[in-house]
Amino acid sequence: MTLENKTILVIGGGISGITAAVEAAEVGFEVILIEKEAYLGGRVARTYKYFPKMCPPSCGMEINFKRIRNNPRIKVLTLSEVTKITGDAGNFEVSVRKNPRFVTGRTAIPSSVVDKLSSEIDSDFNLGMNQTKALYYPHPMAFPPQYVLDKEALSPEDRAILENECGEGAIDFDQQPEELTFKVGAIIAATGWSPYDAQKMENLGFGRCENVITNVMMERLSDQTGPTQGRLIRPSDQKEIKNIAFAQCAGSRDEKFLPYCSAVCCMGSLKQARYVLEKDPEAHVSIFYIDIRTISRHEKFYYDLLENDRVTFIKGKVAKVAEDPNTQDLLIEAEDSLQGAKIHQTFDLVVLATGVVPNTAHAKIPYEGLQYDEYGFIRPNGVKGIYSAGCIQRPSDVSRCVRQATGAALKAIQCLKG
Ligand SMILES: Cc1cc2nc3c(=O)[nH]c(=O)nc-3n(C[C@H](O)[C@H](O)[C@H](O)COP(=O)(O)OP(=O)(O)OC[C@H]3O[C@@H](n4cnc5c(N)ncnc54)[C@H](O)[C@@H]3O)c2cc1C
Repeated sequence: MTLENKTILVIGGGISGITAAVEAAEVGFEVILIEKEAYLGGRVARTYKYFPKMCPPSCGMEINFKRIRNNPRIKVLTLSEVTKITGDAGNFEVSVRKNPRFVTGRTAIPSSVVDKLSSEIDSDFNLGMNQTKALYYPHPMAFPPQYVLDKEALSPEDRAILENECGEGAIDFDQQPEELTFKVGAIIAATGWSPYDAQKMENLGFGRCENVITNVMMERLSDQTGPTQGRLIRPSDQKEIKNIAFAQCAGSRDEKFLPYCSAVCCMGSLKQARYVLEKDPEAHVSIFYIDIRTISRHEKFYYDLLENDRVTFIKGKVAKVAEDPNTQDLLIEAEDSLQGAKIHQTFDLVVLATGVVPNTAHAKIPYEGLQYDEYGFIRPNGVKGIYSAGCIQRPSDVSRCVRQATGAALKAIQCLKG
């Protein structure tokens, strides 16, 4: 039996959601893509380079944005969240809240006007490591390519500048959240992941020692569009980083914190070690690990680094990170399990390889009957007509997410075709 409603709703505009959307639309299905941030791309947009090829995320993303731009069947709603889903396969009703951007896109906003503003907010894109104007372009590769206004953060003086100097209709200060309803035949959930809260591991010093950062912060620190324009300098004193430690399984594979392996953190740190080696020919990297989990073709990535004499691998979990109050250098305590020796070593910066938590651990897809495992990952194929892809299902790298998303699009199409 062929189902009547042929529209597919995709929730989450990261690499998984984008892939599912373009694959379904390019074979003729109408797609609505819902993203809660102001731009598409998810976590991948925030990385400096992709493993294994080490190209910037713009490589893959630009092609996908072009596919979306050129396909009238895809409707993209940013700053939007699904609040309720009812019905069954072929006949779902979906409620969506669309939050105001305040920037209408009807008239271009001159950057000279933005430069005059003094109201600032923490940069969400750079994980709070620097500030941005209250009227901001989310990041250089942002799609849709539009400014966003944080109206609450705008001073009265800055509001007057925008009212007087932006073209007429460029900003609508009266925009309100909109409640929208859609009828769709199938749904693909791809709401992705967030980093595990590093402050939970008190022994590792995050939040207490300024020079302890997380792996996602390291991506931004390395990027030319990041808070230091890609210079590897310490948060505490802007000193160049010459001696850096990566603490693997920071909270992961630990019953007290995140019991599972997040699958991508070993490759993430090996990749970030390469950032350091490439950026500074004098810098040295130490990687503290339980096991290095690189599979298949990724193994070569690891073996190449094993031969590099500027990288030291220490088989031992970091037990403690302490800060020297005078220098803000970091003292690591660990046990080298191959040598059977205690280690006390000092570093300029420590990067915690924190794990992947599904966003559905905290915010479920609002449909009765969907099932999740004990960590909040969605169980695939629980409900006919609702499919999932990417890190909502389990921690995965980009190529695996893309394959899953293509599969989810196919399942949605099969469902609609009966
Ligand atoms: C430090 C680190 C480095 C990494 N580097 C690499 C790498 O080099 N190469 C590689 O292959 N993989 C890498 N990964 C893994 C990569 O980040 C993931 O594979 C990828 O982000 C998964 O994409 P996704 O679309 O499933 O999820 P996400 O990227 O998390 O995208 C999900 C999207 O859904 C949106 N969303 C969330 N909730 C809602 C909601 N309720 N409604 C609407 N939208 C919502 C989010 O805003 C986001 O845009 C790395 C991971 C880490 C931890």
